[in-house]
Amino acid sequence: MPSRMLLSCDPHDNEAGLMLLEDLTTNANQVQLEVLEEILTQNANTEYLRGYLDGHSDKGLFKKKVPIVNYEDIKPHIERIANGEPSRIISAQPITELLTSSGTSGGQPKLMPSTAEDLDRKTFFYNLLIPVMNKYVDGLDQGKGMYLLFIKPEISTPSGLMARPVLTSYYKSSNFRNGLSTHLIFASAFLRAIKFLEDHWRELCSNIRTDFIEFECNGESWEGIIKKLWPRTKYIEVIVTGSMAQYIPTLEFYSGGLPLVSTMYASSECYYGINLKPLSKPSDVSYTLLPNMAYFEFLHVQKNNGEVTQQVNASSSSSDLSHMPHLCPALHVLNRKNLLQSLWVGWLYRYRTGDILMVTGFYNNAPQFRFVQRRNVVLSIDTDKTNEEDLLKAVTQAKLLLEPYGFLLTEYTSYADTSSIPGHYVLFWELKTRGNNDLSEPDHTIMEQCCSTVEESLDSVYRRCRRRDNSIGPLEIRIVKPGTFDALMDFCVSQGSSVNQYKTPRCIKSKEAIKILDSRVVGKVFSKRYASGVFLALVPKICDNLTSRSISLPCSIASPYINFFSLTLIVETCFGMSLHFLSDKFKGPISRGKQRFHKQKPICSWNKSRGQHGISQIDVKEEDKIEV
Ligand code: AMP
Repeated sequence: MPSRMLLSCDPHDNEAGLMLLEDLTTNANQVQLEVLEEILTQNANTEYLRGYLDGHSDKGLFKKKVPIVNYEDIKPHIERIANGEPSRIISAQPITELLTSSGTSGGQPKLMPSTAEDLDRKTFFYNLLIPVMNKYVDGLDQGKGMYLLFIKPEISTPSGLMARPVLTSYYKSSNFRNGLSTHLIFASAFLRAIKFLEDHWRELCSNIRTDFIEFECNGESWEGIIKKLWPRTKYIEVIVTGSMAQYIPTLEFYSGGLPLVSTMYASSECYYGINLKPLSKPSDVSYTLLPNMAYFEFLHVQKNNGEVTQQVNASSSSSDLSHMPHLCPALHVLNRKNLLQSLWVGWLYRYRTGDILMVTGFYNNAPQFRFVQRRNVVLSIDTDKTNEEDLLKAVTQAKLLLEPYGFLLTEYTSYADTSSIPGHYVLFWELKTRGNNDLSEPDHTIMEQCCSTVEESLDSVYRRCRRRDNSIGPLEIRIVKPGTFDALMDFCVSQGSSVNQYKTPRCIKSKEAIKILDSRVVGKVFSKRYASGVFLALVPKICDNLTSRSISLPCSIASPYINFFSLTLIVETCFGMSLHFLSDKFKGPISRGKQRFHKQKPICSWNKSRGQHGISQIDVKEEDKIEV
């Protein structure tokens, strides 16, 4: 029987393609077992697997002995191959190239080894997408399609192997040139292309002399421009799931209501699943795992607090692998809403992809997932941990406030600014007006409300830190000039990302990247939330047994925070340390006034017996009026 890892599919034969899909998903269990078996028997004698299995290819042993790895664990092996050592360190099949992923390791793109068979599997995957699209959209075999294909220069490694992005590799292959194709483009790259058109249409029109294009491009607004320029367009194939979801309004603005189709979920290391209902709303998109692409395992992930170490795939009793369809038996028990982190087993063996998926159901016996986020994309100042999805939700809520005023949020990113104490979240927002006006900023008060709404929409730990612990300062939005995120993308591309695979990082760590953003800031606004109602006008009595020593210092924050932190500063001045718990202890309405507080005598006394690290008592007398 031919290997199910190497199937082929004729993209012109819809019926056969759909039958194959039925077969694979119905027999997901069997297919997965075959795949694992094939991987193990083929690779048992690689240096890597020998180290754990001593030449055996037993599945139970594999589950017991072979560790789950991150990129850093396998990097030395990959580097050896890049430096000219033989493929069999990790793969029985010759490694033909190294694929550069958008994930980075030590500032460099990760390198994923790939084989000729991998390329064929990708071709199979693409070919299978075509009957699925044909099932839902008529006439795709007639007329034209427009594809935006981005490729990047390749780098040759010391061994002579090419290192390049997965799509560059695919587009340059004969498989692509000789076949039909759908393709993978992330919303950010797609919008970049539209933006390019928006910025350069005059020049393009002067070259091709077309009145129609000129007329449309010169219209009042670019709303619906795609439909206007290409009236027969049936859909836009663009990935709008996961963090790409934030582009949906901008895409809708340009597209004039065309369906946005996210066809697949894929990465440099493996292509995972396809969207079997391509016309569904972006928020409803689930990807169905194709069980022949690799062997898949999943780790249960707990929201907010990272992952649970226990692996919950079929081998919870490790010798019993006969329940593969229950890829993760918990899927059957708990079914929906389980958050899982995928592991991919190919020649890299139990590689943690870092993607968090949510179970949405099954198609036949193949699990379906919603892409949630990449692991570890978090903002954190204190005990708060904000992940990409939380941030997206909060930003989505906040940006609704802008829409009635004709502003669209086109891009955002964030970073945890700890240069001031307490640290605070900074969001960079790039805005666009509806219509053709020059960009002007929204009203300051609305932006303040946006800050507050983001804070309100973040999780309870964040709010507690802000409201009660005062261990996070007010959230800040920095509005940046149009084109700033293009500059950020250019920077990332210059650092090794590929245009095609580029996704705006939702959290920036690189100082250089922050500098790029900061140099284009046109306005800054801070949240005022939690200032009112929490802190004091009349202070009754303050506290005992306080042990916290987080430091709160004033930042350059608009009132009433300055005032509130002035209070903190006084305490700081008196005792050499400041108090971040004041918000907890001072109750009462805030009365806004002048910053008279600085000039008053210190209001707190400190029992020094607790030493520098603890504050045991602070007395504030009733008559100590604190006006802020
Ligand atoms: P790369 O390693 O550069 O090939 O990027 C692959 C990563 O892109 C995956 O691990 C996901 O985090 C993300 N990704 C791929 N497909 C999708 C999708 N359909 N929706 C959301 N994110 C995706």
